Amino acid sequence: MEKTLPSGLAAGPLGRCVASFCSAPANTVVTFSPRGMAARLGPRAYCNAHVELLFVDDETYEARHRAHPGGLGPRVFQRSMYEIREPSDAEAAELAHERAAGERWAAEGRVGSYRRIVELHSVTTIDGLLVDAWTAGACVALYDALNEANRERWLAMPVAQQCEVAVRLVMGGRS
Ligand SMILES: [Zn+2]
Repeated sequence: MEKTLPSGLAAGPLGRCVASFCSAPANTVVTFSPRGMAARLGPRAYCNAHVELLFVDDETYEARHRAHPGGLGPRVFQRSMYEIREPSDAEAAELAHERAAGERWAAEGRVGSYRRIVELHSVTTIDGLLVDAWTAGACVALYDALNEANRERWLAMPVAQQCEVAVRLVMGGRS
């Protein structure tokens, strides 16, 4: 699970490393080097530990491939094919913004809870009701489209009703 930030940098949720299940903050950017053949990969943000683990020197890379013909075995990348660098100022600012998402959601109350579910693709219980990412997405889309007065009306509803209204208006046309 990763997201592409406005600069094109791919990072994990909350500005984390893109490696699977890694919750460390991303602090290194890896880009396919211009010397590296045809395929182009957008920049990806990793933690330092994963860069060390996954991007190996040519000798290690060859040895792994000899040991695991057909590409099986632990996945590693040939470091010489990549540019490994610090994030640019713009990328660093985006990662910091992502890291602060939890605080923004907390400050926003109920709709922040829905935003959290959407962003983390999680299923979470809100006031005893299980809300999935699809439903939470409808709630966020509706909230963002409403004016101030209607937001207050909608926020005053219980969760089940918030979800039902959002799904009906955003996803299902009219009833
Ligand atoms: Zn990592």
